Amino acid sequence: QFSHSLKSIARNLKFKAYIQQSSELNRIFKGAAKRFVTGDYREDGVSVGNQLIQKGYRISLEFIGENTINKEECLQAKDEFIALIKECGDRRLNARISFDLSHIGLSIEPELAYQNLMEMAKEAQSHGLSLMISMEESAKTDPILAIYKKVSADYSNVGITLQAQLHRTVEDLNELLHYPGAIRIVKGAYQEPSDICTPRSEKLDQRYLELVEICVKAGHQISIASHDNAIYEQVIERGFLRHPYVEAEMLYGIRPEYCKKLKEDGLPVRVYLTYGVEWYLYLCHRIAEYPPNIYSAITDMICR
Ligand code: FAD
Repeated sequence: QFSHSLKSIARNLKFKAYIQQSSELNRIFKGAAKRFVTGDYREDGVSVGNQLIQKGYRISLEFIGENTINKEECLQAKDEFIALIKECGDRRLNARISFDLSHIGLSIEPELAYQNLMEMAKEAQSHGLSLMISMEESAKTDPILAIYKKVSADYSNVGITLQAQLHRTVEDLNELLHYPGAIRIVKGAYQEPSDICTPRSEKLDQRYLELVEICVKAGHQISIASHDNAIYEQVIERGFLRHPYVEAEMLYGIRPEYCKKLKEDGLPVRVYLTYGVEWYLYLCHRIAEYPPNIYSAITDMICR
């Protein structure tokens, strides 16, 4: 309930505008976001990403944004992603570019998102880079999967995220194994109706592990994207992370010590980095998915 309320606050544009108008509030909240967001600019993401690669991590990079309802802004977002891909390519930074399809047009019309994605996939392919589509709320699952399948006919460097919490996902996964792109498995960040979704529970963890096992047995490229110890204990015990096509993936700023430990144990770890001025919404997502993060946020607000 708490998590749901925070998301409602996050989406309340009046509250957002209020924070942005007050330079003092803006400074305070931004201090808290800094733990999770590399900065406002592309250069911030690229520079932190470069440092992490030097330390032996893999990286994903996202220009933050979602649910864009203005066509011009969708095109600007696509242009920013293209510029990011070019910069990573020019600097030989082996980044995976992550994004929401609703940031580049899905909330206006699927064809716009598809055309923008095709352009990004082409640019990424020319630099030997890959893209990863995030999964959004269940009302968008079908259009997102449809666009993924369509673009996969031309590009194998585009992957897709699946949410273990949705009942439909085992079936979706079995179908998507016939497509070339990498698959990222997450538990799911959206509150969904109980007839289509399993909430956080042992049952959900079992399903998550089942999905991972299906991918591993199929020899399909997979990111195990979770911060959960219980999940990692199991995937390590079962030897899943020792396969060359399997990796762990965690969000920047969350459990960095654990990321380091996995890396030092010789396991492949990808860190998901974000940048952009929409840090406010991203901060609320992080607090909403794990409310104890509010303590670190308050500490950061007071101490910075
Ligand atoms: P949970 O079951 O939520 O938590 C289990 C335990 O993990 C907690 O008790 C705590 O010990 C630890 N933990 C979990 N979260 C945190 C945290 N924020 N800070 C500190 N400790 C924590 N969701 C989508 O719906 N669509 C996406 O496209 C998507 N992409 C993602 C990409 C990556 C790389 C990652 C890591 C997550 C992504 N998510 C996405 C979010 C995901 O669905 C979950 O909401 C999020 O990962 C929390 O679930 P969990 O598996 O970590 O474990």
